[in-house]
Amino acid sequence: MVPRRHSERDTSVAALLRRRLGRGATEALVAPLLAGIYAGDIDRLSVEAAFPELALWERELGSLRAGARAKAVPVRRVPAGPTTPFATIRGGLHRLPAALAEALEPGTLRFGATVVKLGREERGPYRVATDDGDDLPADAVVLATPASVSAELLAEVAPRAAELIRQISAASTAIALFVYPKGTNRRLPEAAGFVTRRGALPITAATAISKKWPRQAFGSRAVVRAYVGGDGLEHELDRSDDEILSSARDALAGVYRLTAEPEHAALVRWPGSMPQYAVGHLERLGAIEAALPPGLYVAGGAYRGAGIPDRVREAGAVADRVVRQD
Ligand SMILES: Cc1cc2nc3c(=O)[nH]c(=O)nc-3n(C[C@H](O)[C@H](O)[C@H](O)COP(=O)(O)OP(=O)(O)OC[C@H]3O[C@@H](n4cnc5c(N)ncnc54)[C@H](O)[C@@H]3O)c2cc1C
Repeated sequence: MVPRRHSERDTSVAALLRRRLGRGATEALVAPLLAGIYAGDIDRLSVEAAFPELALWERELGSLRAGARAKAVPVRRVPAGPTTPFATIRGGLHRLPAALAEALEPGTLRFGATVVKLGREERGPYRVATDDGDDLPADAVVLATPASVSAELLAEVAPRAAELIRQISAASTAIALFVYPKGTNRRLPEAAGFVTRRGALPITAATAISKKWPRQAFGSRAVVRAYVGGDGLEHELDRSDDEILSSARDALAGVYRLTAEPEHAALVRWPGSMPQYAVGHLERLGAIEAALPPGLYVAGGAYRGAGIPDRVREAGAVADRVVRQD
């Protein structure tokens, strides 16, 4: 029996998992799944910010298994035919921001302008300077830029908030994409992909795209993407594209027995793209909010939630605050 922990003090995800599940199950099973969402290191990730339900289950139920069971929804029968529980937007995710932009009055949005400075005359409106020479007055400013950019922009008008935001680091990752020759898709198991034990392979996870999101255009080809890098694994990215692709291809060949040469291979690098919620993250957010003067707001993946649904929720909440001048 592992006694439940009543304290609400934040700990790392690793500390909680190892205490409840032991080292073996944590490192082989649970850590790769949870860490993958943030491209993070469970020894650094905050349980309260990244996976608050785990802390809650331990505090209230004294068991992660009991919590997971209570949350589990009964498996529904899916209709027969080529179907997948993983949804995305037909035609590509880029259609989401495009549709939002189209729904606005023409002229509401400015594209292709980089904000280079945020200033303020005493008690007057904020001034937003862009790289194309504009200097726009604003009663309220929502900085939805990556944390490193927001920290730079806030340095003059909210130096304490800038300093705290600068402490939120972001990990770098890359995606290696492979299209294998005709006839290879049947070699892939009927599964969406896999995650790996930290450090076991030069990739952290793989998605069997042709199984997860089958498309007519793929025909009988296996289409697979592999994730490389992450917090503490950035050394995997200090190599040429060809070297990364080659080691990812070898890793996939080992796991999937996909030994055919891919017809196409591409590497997409995502430097500093995955914000890391280190232990104490929620406390830091509270301090950031307190240090922001009225009319200034921050939003984005660096603060409350790593995924697109979090962004949608947050956008509504921040817009409400701007209207309420909260
Ligand atoms: C490889 C990868 C895979 C992912 N997969 C998923 C997934 O499957 N599901 C999911 O839900 N989420 C996923 N995410 C997370 C998701 O992409 C993020 O949650 C989301 O993009 C974060 O939105 P954001 O608005 O905070 O930041 P961003 O989308 O990075 O937007 C920040 C914007 O600020 C702009 N900007 C930067 N500097 C300036 C400046 N000075 N002036 C003006 N504009 C500026 C940038 O051009 C950019 O448009 C993934 C992320 C990565 C990196």
